[in-house]
Amino acid sequence: MTKVGAVIVAAGSGTRMGRPKQFLPLAGRPVCEWALKAFLDCPEVSRVALVMSAENVAEHGPRLASDRVVVVVGGETRMGSVQNGFKALPPDVDVVAVHDGARPLVTPEVIRATVAEALRSGAAVAAVPAKDTLKRAGAGRVVAETPDRSSFWQAQTPQTYRRAILADALERFAGEAGATDESQLVERAGHPVTLVEASYSNFKITTPEDLVTASALLGAGAPRTGFGYDIHRLVAGRPLMLSGVKIPHSKGLLGHSDGDAVLHAACDAVLGAMGEGEIGIAFPPSDARFKDLDSKLIVSHVLEKVAARGAALLHLDVTLIAEEPKLKPHYEAMSASLAAVFGLPRARVNLKAKSNEGLDAVGRGEAIACHAVATVSVPG
Ligand code: MG
Repeated sequence: MTKVGAVIVAAGSGTRMGRPKQFLPLAGRPVCEWALKAFLDCPEVSRVALVMSAENVAEHGPRLASDRVVVVVGGETRMGSVQNGFKALPPDVDVVAVHDGARPLVTPEVIRATVAEALRSGAAVAAVPAKDTLKRAGAGRVVAETPDRSSFWQAQTPQTYRRAILADALERFAGEAGATDESQLVERAGHPVTLVEASYSNFKITTPEDLVTASALLGAGAPRTGFGYDIHRLVAGRPLMLSGVKIPHSKGLLGHSDGDAVLHAACDAVLGAMGEGEIGIAFPPSDARFKDLDSKLIVSHVLEKVAARGAALLHLDVTLIAEEPKLKPHYEAMSASLAAVFGLPRARVNLKAKSNEGLDAVGRGEAIACHAVATVSVPG
């Protein structure tokens, strides 16, 4: 059987979308892990070199490395990263497929089509025919030329080569600046490169709209809503923990754990959206191990369930009901903490508080209650 090695380049540091696009969450996992999955779904791929920044190697490497995946630190440039990945592949691979970590929708079919062409002719590039009429802009964006579209293709990845051909091109030209794909090096080395018709859905994640489109194409599922509620008694001699923040007050919430009603309600809301019961199942109050438990650990447990389902938490909205203390001065700290604890951008959480107008136990200042609504994209 042909032995295929793959280099997935996820070392870019472009942060126009908040963090490097290859690590943005997409339908429950980072963008580049969808690309990794497509390669691992091909049994003929014997080894994948996943190239990342040193920081991401430290964070994700231990989780992703396996007998088929070696995690490699990238170079200064894209070509440096490709070289590092290439060197990490075993010498017995027949062909090497180089792929962008920001193209999550590549399929085993497209990978195999480029491998077949590389075996036939030596060098293959996934590409799609240009759909739009192309204009070459001159000075002042005045159209200088309308070339014949029919001969134009848009190059994607994988770009797949017989091992010796890629080795030769990298050795001779990788140090030269300006190349945006490996094919340019191989072309310069004089090897013919054949275009392999791929799919328009094999696009590169570049803008926020691309993430929405990719999520829909992955069948991430319609967003589901979950609701959570919690109430704890206010007593003297306890710290008041709300949303993972210690709020200065003479009393705190009584509970088996730290009593953080915000995190408990939010966790139940997330579990509710996934149809997975409530936090009391995994953390029963009767279990002595959970006495004074930091509620952030409950959140970690819930987020593991979200990841295991391939789901993605999209939004949290929380309403606290408290007579005292006044919570408005702590909105920003509590919101920022809620976002951080649940791994959401700050703009994806909303938190506010109301009094109970003096009514009932909450109104008498004997307890604090919290309602939460979670929106979760759940596959299937
Ligand atoms: Mg509770």
